[in-house]
Amino acid sequence: MKKLQTGLFALLIAALLFQSCSLVPLTGRRQLSLVSDADMLSTSFVQYGQFMKENKLSTNTAQTNMVKQVGRRIQNAVTTYFAKNNMSQDLNGFAWEFNLIENKEVNAWCMPGGKVVVYSGILPVTQNETGLAVVMGHEIAHAVAKHSNERMSQALVTQLGGQVLAEALQQKPQQTQQIWMSLFGVGVQLGAVLPYNRLQESEADHLGLIFMAMAGYDPNASIEFWQRMSQNAGTKPPEFLSTHPTDENRIQKIKSEIPEAMKYYKK
Ligand SMILES: [Zn+2]
Repeated sequence: MKKLQTGLFALLIAALLFQSCSLVPLTGRRQLSLVSDADMLSTSFVQYGQFMKENKLSTNTAQTNMVKQVGRRIQNAVTTYFAKNNMSQDLNGFAWEFNLIENKEVNAWCMPGGKVVVYSGILPVTQNETGLAVVMGHEIAHAVAKHSNERMSQALVTQLGGQVLAEALQQKPQQTQQIWMSLFGVGVQLGAVLPYNRLQESEADHLGLIFMAMAGYDPNASIEFWQRMSQNAGTKPPEFLSTHPTDENRIQKIKSEIPEAMKYYKK
């Protein structure tokens, strides 16, 4: 009887998990998704608005224009790619924005719904427009693959006992905001940062290469970018490396995916 009960319980959990899973656009991987797209987007737009109020836009016009130009080109590539694959509905509610802020930290992120922020501190590592396209393509790939939804779901389960997002925001606004910011390496202690996992990194690399190639940037540049970023690690690893942990296998995997991306590359 006890065995039967345990079996039934396991079955119930499996059914629940299956129900609260969704498919990653493009790769078809099943992901944990306890948060609705609508909740993710509204939270994102509020947190992003708050962040922009508290931070200073760069006054460097040339660099700001470069960020906006790379962003728009990748946005067009993503929109085209999703339309061709009959997945335009996955971009519903996106309100793209590309901003460069004045901040020495080495970081960049794309919050759900296409809110991209590049920190001026990452520009010495990206070096040029193509290097910037590596970072922005990668970040946008995380957003369109809905990785933050998956990470938020995991954080809600482990840190707030499976509370739903809307409820958590009402009852524990500070903790919820902290979890949110730790997804992007924003203003939290390094130990509190929630890194992307290996699978998510690998998906973002793969899709990012395709998007940058479609936008007219040579995907080969990604290898040198990740090498430069790893050399940057030092004693205090940059925020970007904390949220995007890397290892030697990664660069090998990227190398093996470049021929596929080159099929999309048009100068
Ligand atoms: Zn990443």
